Amino acid sequence: MPLYEYKCIECGHEFEELVFGENKPACPKCKSEKTEKKISAFATSGGSSGGRSGASCNNFT
Ligand SMILES: [Zn+2]
Repeated sequence: MPLYEYKCIECGHEFEELVFGENKPACPKCKSEKTEKKISAFATSGGSSGGRSGASCNNFT
């Protein structure tokens, strides 16, 4: 489900909203439509927390 984080520019209120398409949700607090989309934490998965990519024999003597 496309759950995005938004921040209201008017009052600074942060909220999450389910958004389909290019709809811009209004701030639930002050009803302003001046909201900016924040990048969700779901998209930041670099995959560098393990380092298991075949090279595990670094035992030089
Ligand atoms: Zn607001």
